[in-house]
Amino acid sequence: MVWEERWHPLRREWVVISSHRDRRPWQGETVGDGTPPGVAYDAGCYLCPGNARVSGQRNPAYRGVFAFDNDHPCVGPSAPEPSLLPPGVYRNRRAEGLSRVVCYSPRHDLSLAELSHAEIVNLLVALREEFRELGSRPEVRHVLMFENKGEVVGVSNPHPHCQVYATNFVFRTIELEAEASASHLAEHGRVLFGDIIAAEEGDGRRVLASNGQAIAFVPYFARYAYETFIAPRATHANITGLSASEISDLARVLGETLVRMDNLWRMPFPYVMALHQAPLDGADHRGFHFHIEIHTPLRKPGLLKYLAGPEIGGGNFLNDTAPEDKAAELRATPMTHYRATGGT
Ligand SMILES: [Zn+2]
Ligand SMILES: [Zn+2]
Repeated sequence: MVWEERWHPLRREWVVISSHRDRRPWQGETVGDGTPPGVAYDAGCYLCPGNARVSGQRNPAYRGVFAFDNDHPCVGPSAPEPSLLPPGVYRNRRAEGLSRVVCYSPRHDLSLAELSHAEIVNLLVALREEFRELGSRPEVRHVLMFENKGEVVGVSNPHPHCQVYATNFVFRTIELEAEASASHLAEHGRVLFGDIIAAEEGDGRRVLASNGQAIAFVPYFARYAYETFIAPRATHANITGLSASEISDLARVLGETLVRMDNLWRMPFPYVMALHQAPLDGADHRGFHFHIEIHTPLRKPGLLKYLAGPEIGGGNFLNDTAPEDKAAELRATPMTHYRATGGT
């Protein structure tokens, strides 16, 4: 078993090697059709209320949001101290941090898109608390919150949940965004993401939803078809800065966006959703604007955007669709979830 962080000297980033996680359970639903699970409670689900998990611990009979330490952590307090010093140019270190799981709802059969506005607000408030707690740990330099939804992105259990990785390193994408945000602020005296919002609103064709304090759009520079950014209008380095009314507006825009995605093909829309928040490395991140990114691997039902030569081999994306067209498709969908209107 190898569980440690290894430095990639060419990419200048940490790789978490966690070979113990290879044994984690797979509870995916039947492959392919994206049919949502039909039962509100599944006796075999390790996330449903009252059920036992692999650690032997039993979930409480929770009624709202429920968070716990991941039983298969990628970083965690039980990570061993690396015993071998690597040779030559190589570096390694302990996979310090904490991995958490956050269940959105006791209901096994609902997705985030189907939760009420109040339930999405409660989730965001719970994530704000997670960030506060995890971000105050001395070893933590970044908190990544993400949801993998759908078998095509490798989700191992359809019960609605997300994960939190509080790591001793800053994820590379966040590091890049922090660098870009800091230099834009230094050069122009303005927040980069604020300029992005202004450009999107000025054009208007890619905006999916907006209200007084939040906005959702397919960015001009989208790498995936239907890729969507969701953000509060005001700049906050992380979710802890959001007021109750900002959380409420953000929840409204997030819910509306996810309903439109599910309605597009009348199926649960697979995605990777990540909350992008400033590093906790002590540097000045006044230019960093907290936002949510939704990356969507499907181009059409059953048709995956495969990452291949340009993306994996070179690191840059080819997008075979026009962001303006994809935004128009999403905007043309109804605002009521198809499963709530007696659909399939
Ligand atoms: Zn469940
Ligand atoms: Zn981002």
